[in-house]
Amino acid sequence: MPDNLTFTIIKPTAFKNNHTGAILKMINEAGFVVKAMKITRLMPGQAGAFYAVHKDKPFYQSLVNYMSSGPIVVAILEKDNAVSDYRKLIGATDPTKADEGTIRKLFATSLEKNAVHGSDSDENANIESDFFFSKLERI
Ligand code: ADP
Ligand code: MG
Repeated sequence: MPDNLTFTIIKPTAFKNNHTGAILKMINEAGFVVKAMKITRLMPGQAGAFYAVHKDKPFYQSLVNYMSSGPIVVAILEKDNAVSDYRKLIGATDPTKADEGTIRKLFATSLEKNAVHGSDSDENANIESDFFFSKLERI
């Protein structure tokens, strides 16, 4: 499994609030290279499948509704130690606990609407990239 790739989503509120450019600038300045990217939108069933690991959590249905509520930007990012370095750049899941200067601290509007997704392992980065991008788009 390559350890130099991760996968991100700019979530609906961050996209709607026009923060995509600022977030991508932070991503580039932290040394990540964008390998694939597109604006897309999830049907509720697709959002449910993407977050299936959380299906028994109390926040699952609201999260699925939210993630399918509007356009998102999805991207594959390349950098050494991509998964852990990107988790550091985005900050804690709960933006009130995220470090100053992190993407979530700067752009989240709530715990659910926390600006971005970032993969939590190399294996999931690969699975999540395959979820959104064809083999050709990933080259
Ligand atoms: P992360 O996105 O940091 O990997 P999780 O995988 O635990 O966090 O959760 C997935 C997403 O579900 C979070 O990014 C957030 O949007 C939402 N979420 C997580 N925990 C809660 C919660 N307690 N209440 C509401 N939404 C939550
Ligand atoms: Mg997660």
